[in-house]
Amino acid sequence: MKKIAKKLMPIPEGYVVLTKESTSVKSQWIEQENIRHFRLAEYADGTTALYRVYHGGDLNHDYESVLVQKLYCLHCGEPLTPDLGSVTGIPDLYNYHCTACGRSIEISKEDY
Ligand SMILES: [Zn+2]
Repeated sequence: MKKIAKKLMPIPEGYVVLTKESTSVKSQWIEQENIRHFRLAEYADGTTALYRVYHGGDLNHDYESVLVQKLYCLHCGEPLTPDLGSVTGIPDLYNYHCTACGRSIEISKEDY
């Protein structure tokens, strides 16, 4: 069944959109500089999904991108990078690490 978005919102403050960029060698997650091209859709059942606005105003569910929190390391202040799920390869919304000082930070799901 195709779900109909009840509401489309701009990307919330404090969040960034990561998009999977794949080459023949590897794939990596790149932070989108222009999040104006993205919307957060809310469905009637309360779930959300990320949509991308294309040229001409077309709006499509973006399966290649994920919304993550913009967090900074408590120790050195550098931006944190989400861990990638070992099975899925998708950024983990609850586990981050600092590439500068090597520390790991776990986000409590209750606070999320
Ligand atoms: Zn750090």
